[in-house]
Order: sequence, then structure tokens, then C-alpha cells
Amino acid sequence: MNIVDHIINSYKENKSAASYKKFLLKLHLARIFYKEGQKAISELCDETNNSIPSLTAVLNELTEAGWVQNFGSGESKGGRKPALFGLNPDAGYIMAIEISRDYCRLSIFNMLNQSLGELVEIDKGLDTAADILLLLKKESSKLLKSRKIKNEQIIGYGITIPGLIDIRKGISYSYPQLGSGNLNTMFTRLFGRPAFVEHDTKSMVLGESWFGLAQRMSNVLFLNIGSGIGMGIIINGNLYHGHSGFSGEFGHIQMIQGGELCYCGKNGCLETVASGTTIVRKAIAEIEKGKSSIISNQVNNVMQDIKLITIITAAKQGDQFALELLEEASEYIARGISTILHLFNPEAVIIGGEMAEAEDLILNTIRQKLNKYAMFQLKKDTQIILSVLHQKSGLLGAIPVVMSNIFVVPKDLEQH
Ligand SMILES: [Zn+2]
Repeated sequence: MNIVDHIINSYKENKSAASYKKFLLKLHLARIFYKEGQKAISELCDETNNSIPSLTAVLNELTEAGWVQNFGSGESKGGRKPALFGLNPDAGYIMAIEISRDYCRLSIFNMLNQSLGELVEIDKGLDTAADILLLLKKESSKLLKSRKIKNEQIIGYGITIPGLIDIRKGISYSYPQLGSGNLNTMFTRLFGRPAFVEHDTKSMVLGESWFGLAQRMSNVLFLNIGSGIGMGIIINGNLYHGHSGFSGEFGHIQMIQGGELCYCGKNGCLETVASGTTIVRKAIAEIEKGKSSIISNQVNNVMQDIKLITIITAAKQGDQFALELLEEASEYIARGISTILHLFNPEAVIIGGEMAEAEDLILNTIRQKLNKYAMFQLKKDTQIILSVLHQKSGLLGAIPVVMSNIFVVPKDLEQH
């Protein structure tokens, strides 16, 4: 059991106009506690527009059931110090799952968004697992067991996936192994708990907006630069999906007319000149032609072992060739960023994904090249910064995906 199921079940057991009101208030309180932390009764009265007696009655019920705790006295504004109420950190859990092309990450979070232990990484993903769904089912059960959590204590599963997702139908256009139906329905069936799917880069910008550098920003763009290049968009404080859910395909804007063929079918996309995949491919081609670089030593001359991070590490050690590769990619990225600055006028552009590990090596070039490509006022008013969440932004982004769907009235219990 968890707090959400408890609130829903206790209403279903005793349906009346009065108990519906109580049900709405309980959900509202849970939402306030989760988002804002501990509160005094007087604050809750203001926020929920309820009297002290009715609020006290509901809080007592939730406290007796163990979902809410009285955390003792808070700050006094003269007179007696008020008691503070808040969620029991173990009133429910979120299972966050990040599914990538070649890895998956899982973690369980409590009501304070604290991870129960380290995240679990599996080195198989959509492109490399024989049966991705079976693998996820097995690994999530294993994780539940190791953290001593029952599946029924999980309020929801938050799942992030790459590729094109049609938000209207909830289906993936990129990964047929996930089935042809609605992803939320499919994962809900798989895990036996409510499940919510979001696009990987979009959930990363949510992670930044809830837990990272974008916490107090309303207009933010997040660039996920790794094997591909994607963009998450927050406008006026809300995640922007676009008409069909395909917004943010930043990697496929054209950079080179008649350039290299991209896997999307078009030519000269940003990804064909600046993605991790492209940088690695260029490095291998040049080294095989005889270019000298410490990159070869780092992989003991096994070219297939070169990854973006290998090149970043070499660049950090001053390797000229690796530095050139990153600089060239950064210039194209800067050109791309200048376009989005002019279109969106964001407060910040946050750079995340594996490329962010290059830190100043890419940031300096991007900032400098923006002087060349962007209008002065737009550039001046926009911070170009690196994500501080590193590999965690995807997993953390899965939390708001669940939470924005869960402390709300379920569809079958709306109206009255
Ligand atoms: Zn493309």
C-alpha cells in the first residue's frame, strides 16, 4: 500500500458527497506536502481554503494511518510554536527507469526524492538487449527485492525512452520492440502499477527544472548532446511537447547543404557534424589514416572501443587532435544554439548529456562563437551553462513525470 492508493480506496469504500470532499482535500494535502515540504496547519488552511477543524480531522486520519507525520514545532511568529506536518518519507515510492539505446538505469526514490541506494546501471538497452521488456521486468523486481520494497508500495513507474513518441497516441515510432500500442498502458501492464512514459530529453529538462539549475527559471532550453543531439523545451514553466510530441529535434536541423546523409534520411543535419557518434567516427577514420593521437593508446589500438568519453578524456590531457574534434563540433553546436536563441529568447541554455563532461573545452568555444553568430542582446541575456546533474538528470526527470500524474484525481473519479 501507499498514500495514493490509501486515499483512493478509503473514498471508494465509503462514497458520499462529504467523503468526496475529504478525498479531494487529502490529495491536495499530499500534493502540497510533496512539492513544498512541511507545513503548519494555519498555512494549510490558507492554501486549501479550509477551516482548522476540518483540516485537523483529515490530518489526524492521515497521521493515524502513518502516511503523514507530525514533525514537531516550526518557527514561531509570536505565541506558541505551531506543529509542522509533512509526508512520511516512506509513504510511497517512485521507480524511475531510464531506457537508452545501449544501457538502462533504474532507481527507487522516496517521497523526499531521495534515492534508496545507488542507481543501478545495466549495460544493455533498446539496441542491444534480446528482450528489453523481459530484462526491465527482471531488473526492477530485483531492485525492489534488494531495497526491501513491495511493488504495491510503488506509487508509479516513471519511464524515459529515446526516439519519436507520438504524444497523442502515446506510441513509439522508433522502437517496434516496445509494441505498437500505448506505452503507458503497456508498461502499466508489465509492472502491475501505474506507469508513465516520457521522451528522454524532455524528461531531462524536467529533471533540470525540478532538481537542477533551472529550478527558478520559466524559459529554459536543455541540450542533450551524446550519441545524438536533442533538445528539451520549457516555456512559461511548462514542458513543451509540440503538436504531436516531436518538438526538440534539434539534431536534425540542416547545417551543411548537401552534406552527409543522416540516419533520419536527410542530408547535412547537425548530428552529422557534431554528435558523439560523428565525432567518434571521424576520430577512427583519421587515426586509421595515420593521425597520431593519444586516443589510440587509450583503447590499446582497438578502434571499436573509442567512445565520445575517450575523446573527451584525451582532449582534457591536451591531445591536439581530440581538442580539434571537440572544437569543430562546438562551433556547429554554437551555430545551432544561435538559431534557438533567436527563436526562443531563453533565460538559459543548459548543456547536458555525455558531451557536458568536456566542460570548459566545449563551453568556451560555444560562448565565444556565439559572439559571432548571435545578436548581442540575446546572447547577453542568456546563460549558457553545463548541467550539474550529470548522468542523473534522466532518472530524476522521471520523478516529475510520475508526480504530475499521480496526486491528481483519477479519471474514473472525476466530477460528482
Ligand atoms: Zn537527421
